[in-house]
Amino acid sequence: MYTASKERYTAMEYNRCGNSGLLLPKVSLGLWHNFGDTSKFENIRELCFTAFDNGITQFDLANNYGPEPGSAEKNFGRILKEDLGGYRDELIITTKAGYDMWDGPYGNWGSRKYLLASLDQSLKRMGLEYVDIFYHHRMDPDTPLEETMGALASVVQSGKAIYVGLSNYDGETLKKAAVILQELRCPFVINQNRYSIFDRTVEKNGLKQMTGELQKGLITFSPLEQGQLTDRYLHGIPEDSRIRTDGRFLKESTLNEHRMGQIRRLNELAGQRGEKLAEMALGWLLQHKEVTSVLIGASRPQQILDNIKAIACAPFTEEECRFIDEISQA
Ligand code: NDP
Repeated sequence: MYTASKERYTAMEYNRCGNSGLLLPKVSLGLWHNFGDTSKFENIRELCFTAFDNGITQFDLANNYGPEPGSAEKNFGRILKEDLGGYRDELIITTKAGYDMWDGPYGNWGSRKYLLASLDQSLKRMGLEYVDIFYHHRMDPDTPLEETMGALASVVQSGKAIYVGLSNYDGETLKKAAVILQELRCPFVINQNRYSIFDRTVEKNGLKQMTGELQKGLITFSPLEQGQLTDRYLHGIPEDSRIRTDGRFLKESTLNEHRMGQIRRLNELAGQRGEKLAEMALGWLLQHKEVTSVLIGASRPQQILDNIKAIACAPFTEEECRFIDEISQA
């Protein structure tokens, strides 16, 4: 039987999520990869325990995380039932709907029909009465924003979610959605978007700026570009790496000579700062005032411990920031 470390709140730091009452750990754990039925359950448990023992209170899921879709929620539900459930009020558990989840016209995108049914399924898989944050997972160009936002408001009214969030929205759509959610008095507190040294989309599509203006939180996913911004691939492609074990999204072809050159230069800079590349890449994100939390993935507990060091990362000089920008644009 698991007992959480008594020291779990000594090192982690917590940021306020926008102007809400919610505090989130600077580092959060995502269950997209390595938590499905193709992963060893014992390792899944160790990853969750290592995170919580070190103050990571936020665990991020989605209906489709697996493989098989749904299995990450099912496995996390088992951990809650057997071990972590006693700490429910210390946990922020999030899930999402917006991508393809079940057959037919009602298992995808942003209809009210899909979102309400999907959250019910997620709660069942995790054995929960409510999640802390329920996200719409991606923009839906064909469903009226009023309908999707209305569904988010409904899940809060029905007690199945405490807060709501938007994921993969751009600045303009975020602004429209926020107006509707405000009218509905829905506690919309956070945006979840991809953001890293290599992926600057949110700096270009208005999302980052609008998040700041609206005083919402921003949690950044794939902050290590799925492992590229670490020492993982510096000396070839290890057999136990994501590219080899589950290369659905990160392909070997991404690591061409140009990308490897960028990674090596960033790794040298991290070395000069006395840090590991992963630590510097996460610390670089956390210095942006809009960023509430970096949402990491991990395949082994030590990666979580290494990544948490980012909260004590040295401040970046202007010259270092320019250098990082230059490398990412090169
Ligand atoms: P990261 O960019 O943090 O990549 C995680 C991977 O990087 C790990 O699996 C591991 O790869 C490697 N890694 C992590 N730390 C280290 C380290 N210290 N040293 C060496 N290698 C390391 O994030 P993810 O891409 O996994 O995404 C994180 C979370 O974001 C997801 O779990 C999910 O919750 C969320 N997400 C949300 C999306 C959305 O649309 N809203 C989309 C994608 C993700 P390896 O397995 O090779 O060891």
